[in-house]
Amino acid sequence: PSRRGSMADMPKDLLGEIKRLEEIFTVDTAKLKAITDHFISELAKGLSKEGGSIPMNPTWVMGFPTGYETGTFLALDMGGTNLRVCEINLPEEKGEFDIIQSKYKMPEELKTGNADELWGYIADCLQQFIEYHHEGEKLDKLPLGFTFSYPATQDYIDHGVLQRWTKGFDIDGVEGKDVVPPFEKALEERGVPIKLTALINDTTGTLIASAYTDSEMKIGCIFGTGCNAAYFEHAGEIPKLEHVKMDPKQEIAINCEWGAFDNEHKILPRTQYDIIIDKDSPRPGQQAFEKMIAGLYLGELFRLVLVDLHEQPHVQIFQDQDISRLKKPYSLDASFLSDIENDPYENLQETYDIFYDRLKINSSKPELELIRRLAELIGTRSARLSACGVAAICKKKGYKTAHVGADGSVFNKYPHFKQRGAQALKEILDWEKGRDGKPLGKGHDPVEILPAEDGSGVGAALIAALTLKRVQEGKV
Ligand code: BGC
Ligand code: MG
Repeated sequence: PSRRGSMADMPKDLLGEIKRLEEIFTVDTAKLKAITDHFISELAKGLSKEGGSIPMNPTWVMGFPTGYETGTFLALDMGGTNLRVCEINLPEEKGEFDIIQSKYKMPEELKTGNADELWGYIADCLQQFIEYHHEGEKLDKLPLGFTFSYPATQDYIDHGVLQRWTKGFDIDGVEGKDVVPPFEKALEERGVPIKLTALINDTTGTLIASAYTDSEMKIGCIFGTGCNAAYFEHAGEIPKLEHVKMDPKQEIAINCEWGAFDNEHKILPRTQYDIIIDKDSPRPGQQAFEKMIAGLYLGELFRLVLVDLHEQPHVQIFQDQDISRLKKPYSLDASFLSDIENDPYENLQETYDIFYDRLKINSSKPELELIRRLAELIGTRSARLSACGVAAICKKKGYKTAHVGADGSVFNKYPHFKQRGAQALKEILDWEKGRDGKPLGKGHDPVEILPAEDGSGVGAALIAALTLKRVQEGKV
């Protein structure tokens, strides 16, 4: 049964607001195409000597894995919510791996605390992991792939200068500095037998891990707390690396850091709510694209809209309700929106319950309709704008077909994100038929965004393996 029928009973003020929200949050095909075209030129600008707003960071990951990489490696993933430590064994068999892992909570205070505490905490977790899994063993230093999912300038694969914190992190004294020395110092102080072999981005790890098992993988993406992508570029297409003598045909993975796309506000359809998110963030003016798309911001956008509607004298919403809980910044995360979009009931019973349990707000049926529509609009915009980045890389590289490996909480858990993204790609790239000539549908799209292999575990291990191999071959 269609829920549309109930829209007829909507009070005029709420109906008017739904219409307004639909207008400001909808990105039509023409706009998607315009964004994609601008994206392509911004990718190129990031590779130029002058640079642009997208960093396009060279990662020194030189070429795809063969599938035959071997060895035992540690991997550390410093994510937004968890710290994960893995030990990965790459056996002789093609594309195979074994993994053991432990997760540690990333205390919220650490994200805005001081640098020594951050490195100390991470080193403690690594130490615990080794003591637990290698109790009493005499160990040589274990090679580590460290997934540090923030923009970093790298002159070498085992170093990286943090350009700026993203995703709400704000730890003093780290930006503008090489993160490796303080990390290694914390390990040394504790006598942890680890050698950092490669510092990588989660997108690069995702690209390499996915390419290990699927030779059609061309792009690695993260749609999670933050958003970003990595792909391979030919050295000849990277003017800013001209000073490094490289074969122009040599491939090198580029961590785009596309969250910074349109920081100069030329093309993205920003709403008044996007402007508030940016202004109130620890880094205003940064990560314009990410702030419209990524999981960290979806719930906040939703919250800002509802608070704004409540404050409008001509809109009757949550009348006589205590909205103090709703007024707390960043109190709603993307899973709150997921739950609303997943509500299977025509009367939006679950949405009602979620609002009551979490916010102590009693919502009327028309209010619930608006809430649901707003979640759909925010979730859909996120997926459609995300597709612009993928389409831009494909167009820049001239890929007519490709697999794209994607990971992250929004990609994996947000309802309809995958279908909405696929639909947008189809609109941008003007497909009528699939790669096999059959009508489009699951498994037939020329460019498919697929669930990735574990980038910050297996991917980090593979990159460590590829790096050690290059060292043995005297290539670095
Ligand atoms: C970071 C990227 C990262 C992305 C996804 C962004 O905020 O700047 O380095 O790849 O989040 O985790
Ligand atoms: Mg992650």
